[in-house]
Amino acid sequence: MDHRRKELVANRRKTPAGAPKIPKFVKFHKDDHAVGCDEIFWEDPLIYEPRKDPNGRIAHWGLFPYNKEGEEEINGKRIYNRQRTIQYMYRNGRPTPEQQFVNALIDKKLEALQAMNIEEYSSRDYVLHVHAVHMPKLPNSTQDRLWRKVRVSGGLTLSVFVDKVFTPMFRFIRNLHAHVIHDLTDGALFGPKGCDAVDMMHLPQTGYGFIPDDDWQIVHIVREKGDTMCIQYDFGDNWYFDIKVEEVIPAGESTGAVVILGGSGTHPPAEVTPWHWADLLRTADKNNAGREETLREMFASMNYASLPYSSAYNLEFFSVEETQKAVSGAFDSPASLRSMSKHLNQDFTDVDDGGQSVRATLAEHNQTLRRGQALMTFPVYDADGNPTGRVVEEGVSESRRDNPSHTACANCGSPKNLKVCTGCRQRFFCSRSCLRTAWARGHREVCSGPQSK
Ligand SMILES: [Zn+2]
Ligand SMILES: [Zn+2]
Repeated sequence: MDHRRKELVANRRKTPAGAPKIPKFVKFHKDDHAVGCDEIFWEDPLIYEPRKDPNGRIAHWGLFPYNKEGEEEINGKRIYNRQRTIQYMYRNGRPTPEQQFVNALIDKKLEALQAMNIEEYSSRDYVLHVHAVHMPKLPNSTQDRLWRKVRVSGGLTLSVFVDKVFTPMFRFIRNLHAHVIHDLTDGALFGPKGCDAVDMMHLPQTGYGFIPDDDWQIVHIVREKGDTMCIQYDFGDNWYFDIKVEEVIPAGESTGAVVILGGSGTHPPAEVTPWHWADLLRTADKNNAGREETLREMFASMNYASLPYSSAYNLEFFSVEETQKAVSGAFDSPASLRSMSKHLNQDFTDVDDGGQSVRATLAEHNQTLRRGQALMTFPVYDADGNPTGRVVEEGVSESRRDNPSHTACANCGSPKNLKVCTGCRQRFFCSRSCLRTAWARGHREVCSGPQSK
């Protein structure tokens, strides 16, 4: 680099006001003029003060500022423009200054996680209250509008909790979108390792990096009554759910099983932002015409495809049994091929309405199922329990099974004492009684091998 050019770089790299001239930790590429880079990255990540919201909670590693209303201000456009400008400078795995900073935070958090002794907490069950942030309250009420209450084992892996409890509980489509879990005490993020969902391109706006959620349990984040964590689901639409420990069950009374205890609010239609759904709910609160408008849009969504339009549909509808069934269905499905469906952003088929199957989408991209990949097809039923001819497809692995420490009982959702089914060697069960129940419920039909009962 000649002298003149060097000068140019030095002049053009604008240090944010108040920040020291030289970053305390991160290194910039010589051509990176730091345009659009937040002043926080001039700090030393090991001693820096993460940004807190007015309630003292820290999200997104504490990287993003808050406005006067206490809302996080994430300037997505600025971050995107900066990423686009610098991406060619930091190639071949060379981290950007922002990633260098977050990697240091990740290392520090990993040390803390490894030093934690969670054994006594893992054997307890927890009653969690999960509610969608950004929803309007019910008219003349202070009640949350979209929430679920669930009892789970504290020893459940975070990835299993998101995939097999949280996602089906709100009828989101499994293995479609990325997510992160926020530890609100320090802003640490946990997310899906090796995920290539399209929404991963928004990772910088989410916090630049995360710790794999396969390796850590619920009790690595929350342990006592009142503790709170947060799930951010779908980096494009950005649904935020607060999860609060409502009750801790002593180990002696804990079963480990996942039990849906209550809830309110029909599940949001697929592929809308929470702000749009909140607007639709407010529209519905106004009058009958508004209700109808909201219902029409809701029923057109793909996760309402199995229900016929009804103007009498109750938007506060919630059923413990149906939700329990959705969660149990997720526990009874073997290792999913996250990368396949996420990569294609399509694992839901409505063949009747000209929807496209996963196989057809693969063909469009000149791809076929890889060795060991398979599609599981689930029929869709109408309100009377008759098959409608529509199907839901899910990419699964035939040759790979869940890692026993990253899964749960295919019958009850407990992560304890798991033993692989000797017949199919795919599903895990926590006890003989769970195996027997699952067998009677239909595992007999999918389990390939000989089976002792
Ligand atoms: Zn079980
Ligand atoms: Zn089996």
